[in-house]
Amino acid sequence: MVEIDPYSGFCNGVVRAIDKAEAYLAGHSHLYSLGAIVHNTDEIRRLEEKGLRIINSSDMEHLAGETVLVRAHGEPPATYALAARMGITLIDCTCPVVLKLQERIEKAYRECDATGGTVVIFGKRGHAEVNGLVGRTEGHALVIEDIAEISKIDFSRHIERFSQTTKDPDQYQALCEACMARTSDITIHNTICHTVAERHRRLAEFASSHDVILFVSGRDSSNGKVLEALCRQYNPRTYWVENVDMLDKGWLEGAASIGICGATSTPRWQLEQLAAGISQCGQVDLQ
Ligand code: SF4
Repeated sequence: MVEIDPYSGFCNGVVRAIDKAEAYLAGHSHLYSLGAIVHNTDEIRRLEEKGLRIINSSDMEHLAGETVLVRAHGEPPATYALAARMGITLIDCTCPVVLKLQERIEKAYRECDATGGTVVIFGKRGHAEVNGLVGRTEGHALVIEDIAEISKIDFSRHIERFSQTTKDPDQYQALCEACMARTSDITIHNTICHTVAERHRRLAEFASSHDVILFVSGRDSSNGKVLEALCRQYNPRTYWVENVDMLDKGWLEGAASIGICGATSTPRWQLEQLAAGISQCGQVDLQ
């Protein structure tokens, strides 16, 4: 039996960005995307065939008058200033959840600026979303990647604590508890995306309920790495693949049930392709 996790597939933020890109490309020859619109090579290739061109922020210096898409991760204020200077039209697909987080961080930063506090973000340094968040603090927020970095926090100051939307909820909670053990002068903001938090809960159940788990995501997907590790925690027979071509039949030996799941950046069609590929192996039936 092969089951595709009903909760896997693009999140709303990614769907919205891709829909907007495709709508624009339906009437234009090309569209520039500031960074990969989604961390998935096959989906990017599909969109590139329709005219999507991936650029970085320095490329914007040469794109006066063009149209550029801002992906769901969002961008720092400097990007908007550069676009305005170059006469670039932005199709802003910043996920509403990320936008709200940016605004909350900016507000907290303004307050900290007045009171001597500090903004601390639990996230991956250099990740596009985190760059956008740090940009709202004029580069002053401290980014903590994991609990081992807790010593970098200055606990003599008031702390405004946030998380990147796609971090592991359990790790965030552990970090917050460790901070609260050191200070009471801290405000904790629960800013992990509801979709992501819900997926963590459901994915743990899904991974436990199958003999083998095949996790599909792009190599660069931050959310993919977190969710794949979660699956492995609940099912040691978890295998990561980028697409159906990476399937190894040996993984499926003796497995009566196989679960297929993916990240918020994994398209549903890729999960279905993998299920069809397993079915063709002739070892298990497609449910
Ligand atoms: S994971 Fe959540 S916050 Fe991030 S783009 Fe998707 S819906 Fe938006």
